[in-house]
Formats: sequence, structure tokens, C-alpha cells
Amino acid sequence: MGVIDTAREAITLVQKLDNVELLQKILALQSDALKMVEENGELKTKVRELEEAFKIKDSLVFENNSYYIGEKKDGPYCSLCWDTDRRLVHLHKDEANWWWCLIHQKEKHYLKVY
Ligand SMILES: [Zn+2]
Repeated sequence: MGVIDTAREAITLVQKLDNVELLQKILALQSDALKMVEENGELKTKVRELEEAFKIKDSLVFENNSYYIGEKKDGPYCSLCWDTDRRLVHLHKDEANWWWCLIHQKEKHYLKVY
């Protein structure tokens, strides 16, 4: 049984006591518990993302202003996306043989940064 279920049961029990002040305190506790459960979920997600980023970081090779993964040199990946957001984004070669990050090209951040 989780903290939310326990709080719900406590509220049911307190309602039987007909004590408004106690009920308000239990409701406040339930609200705080809900916020903590949400925050805990967000933190777990962030920890997973960081663990994944650390695994990837160990295999990244920086070369020609781009990142590649492993000995097979999968890539190239956008160095700006990785360095700022820990996102692996493939670069795309255009008809003039320029490599572009579609995210920065789309958001027009490419020119601002470089
Ligand atoms: Zn990018």
C-alpha cells in the first residue's frame, strides 16, 4: 500500500471522528504526499536520464566538431545538442555536403551559437 492509499484510509477514519481541525490536517498531509509522489517520479526519471547519459558519454568520441559513438563511429551527432541537453541528434548532410542539426536549423539557434 502506498502513501496515497494510506492517506485516503486515514481521511476515511478521521471523518468518522467528526473533528474538522484533524480532518484539515490530514487533507493537507495528503496534498503534500501527492506532491512528493509526483516529485519523486520526476526525480526518478531524471536519474534514469542521467544514468543513460553517463553510459553514452563514456563511448562518445569528439571529432571534426561532432560526436561519434564507439569504435564503429556511429554518427555524426550534434555536439551542441549533446553538450547542452544530453540529446543524441544525428546530423544530416545537405546537397552542398554541409552537416546540419535539424533541431538547430529548425529553431535557428545554429547561427546564434556559432
Ligand atoms: Zn543540435
